[in-house]
Amino acid sequence: MSTFAVLNPATEQQVRAVAGTTAEEADAAIGRAVAAQRAWREVSPGDRAGLLRSFAAQVDAHREELAQLEVANSGHPVGAARWEAGQVRDVLQYYAAAPERQAGRQIPVAGGIDVTFCEPIGVVGLIVPWNFPMPILSWGMAPALAAGNAVIAKPAEMTPLTALRIGELALGAGLPEGVFQVLPGKGSVVGQRLVDHPAVGKIVFTGSTEVGRQIMAGCAQHVKRLTLELGGKSANIVFADADIEKAAATAPYAVFDNAGQDCCARSRILVQRSVLDRFMELLEPAVQGVKVGDPALAETEMGPLISASHRESVAAYVPENAPVAIRGSAPDGPGWWFPPTVLAPVGLDSPAYTQEIFGPVVTVTPFDDEAEAIGLANDTPYGLSGSIWTGSVGRAIRVARAVQAGNLSVNSHSSVRYWTPFGGFKQSGLGRELGPDALDAFTETKNVFIATAD
Ligand code: NDP
Repeated sequence: MSTFAVLNPATEQQVRAVAGTTAEEADAAIGRAVAAQRAWREVSPGDRAGLLRSFAAQVDAHREELAQLEVANSGHPVGAARWEAGQVRDVLQYYAAAPERQAGRQIPVAGGIDVTFCEPIGVVGLIVPWNFPMPILSWGMAPALAAGNAVIAKPAEMTPLTALRIGELALGAGLPEGVFQVLPGKGSVVGQRLVDHPAVGKIVFTGSTEVGRQIMAGCAQHVKRLTLELGGKSANIVFADADIEKAAATAPYAVFDNAGQDCCARSRILVQRSVLDRFMELLEPAVQGVKVGDPALAETEMGPLISASHRESVAAYVPENAPVAIRGSAPDGPGWWFPPTVLAPVGLDSPAYTQEIFGPVVTVTPFDDEAEAIGLANDTPYGLSGSIWTGSVGRAIRVARAVQAGNLSVNSHSSVRYWTPFGGFKQSGLGRELGPDALDAFTETKNVFIATAD
């Protein structure tokens, strides 16, 4: 068994060594999950709901411990990490209500009746990225368990600690052994095994579009069910009739939250030309006011990037001669820091404008009218998120309908809530997570005709 080091991105020190799961161990875990699921699907809806509520209570009781683990493992500011641990509890509670409400239909047919059942898929594999280890784990885990599936989670190699602890809390809450397992290790070993193993009936993957494409090809071999949440290059569109002060004050948080390591980051700000100068004047103090530093401090708003190699990849978008319009601050010394950075003007073909940077770098581009704003927003292979700032209700609705993205906000910088559907258009993914219909993605509908003729 080999181990790998988990590092603290704010100090570059080792937090812990973790044993990596081998392909053989993954196969054994899948075998345990298959056996456990047979019993789990027979647990009555009320009892399954009760166990999920106990799981939520366990998470709540250990919220501070989970938050501190995430600060050390991912460099998330402690305020954000506390919110993330709370989200795991909330998502479990939300889907704990589902088993008792999971009903099929009765359809009138000649000669009898037709009833539908929602059957669990079986074993679900969750491949989780490093940017939001707790929330993204919970978005797949909670509805999949509620629907009667067994779940195997593969956290990102760099950020396994909170998932491992949540796995222990599930057992502490009374979930039967094998119903929820966490397998730390490499994507190319454990993740790949979940994709390739015929007994895993569904994969939920969040991560890069490139790996998502490979996973889709792997799932195709088995016609395996798949949800993909992939990259983004979202637009933050500011019209001249908007509350420019508010749009500029919140724009940094729309992209620099989690140091820009967010698939929903609004990393292209599009501003109507007539208010561009005023917007830039207001944006400067807002960017410079972002508190970047020790993630353990309550006042910190932005921590480090996840790794040295990721910082290199982000820095490549800001070479010596880059058009840096505004630059915020970042600590010196150890840690993979990168200051909030605003680039303007940028060419529409420049990599900083076209590619997902996944760091605290944003571009500002002017537009003249609504049609041009929509054209710019849609001129990307991605379609995950975005914001529209305007004082006109009609324009807000027109533009929201025209922008090809799954999650938009009007006069607000955030659009993700666990009780509303989340997912992407175009190359940002397939399927939807969260919201009241999430169990549909973890069940198969079975149709049974019952003849009534004697
Ligand atoms: P990846 O897509 O490589 O990783 C995401 C998850 O997939 C990790 O758990 C990873 O495991 C796993 N994985 C990797 N290869 C395979 C495979 N062949 N089969 C099964 N699972 C696999 O993202 P990166 O961490 O490399 O980040 C690269 C870029 O991806 C970022 O810069 C960003 O642009 C984008 N990204 C987007 C995210 C989003 O939320 N949409 C989240 C994370 C990244 P392991 O940890 O072992 O590599």
